[in-house]
Amino acid sequence: MIKIKNLSGACQHCGRAIEFRAETAGMTADCPHCGQPTELLLALPPDSNTPARTKAILFTIVALVILIGGLIGTVLALKRAERLSARHRESAAKANAQIVPPPANPFAPVGFSVSPVTLEQSQSSAIVHAVGKVRNLTNRQRFGVRVQLELLDRNGRKIGEAKDYQALLEPKAEWPFRALVVEPKAVSAIIRGITED
Ligand SMILES: [Zn+2]
Repeated sequence: MIKIKNLSGACQHCGRAIEFRAETAGMTADCPHCGQPTELLLALPPDSNTPARTKAILFTIVALVILIGGLIGTVLALKRAERLSARHRESAAKANAQIVPPPANPFAPVGFSVSPVTLEQSQSSAIVHAVGKVRNLTNRQRFGVRVQLELLDRNGRKIGEAKDYQALLEPKAEWPFRALVVEPKAVSAIIRGITED
């Protein structure tokens, strides 16, 4: 034997409690209190339901904000770590640069030292010279001194050669050489060798 339990709802007009049988749910009946026709609906406790949903939504939003904030924080932390490590690498490089002595004079074995080479264009024409200085480090005269230069393009590739000649270089004297550069794409030059007769 099945006992049909009465359900309870509220009048849509006066709001007072109405009891009705389960099979009449959804039907319209006159309210026993105010006499107005009302749908027989299960009373959903709105006061406890709606705030719970709102709370759930709020919690979801808060969780998302925390999650997104966390992600942004992580990305920022990673970037910061990258910057820091880059800075560390830089300072390490600087420290190394301070420790490592300047490159030894490669021409010391042949008794010369050289300055950096620059390319100079004369004001009146398009003629370019590679200029620099070669010093005789010895106490003897040097005869038939030749400087050989390697011409480099914008990418540091060798694209040609230049040379200059000095018949006599006195002891400890400095020779300001000027080597004609015929390669128009040359942007820099390095001394490849120094020889003497
Ligand atoms: Zn009513």
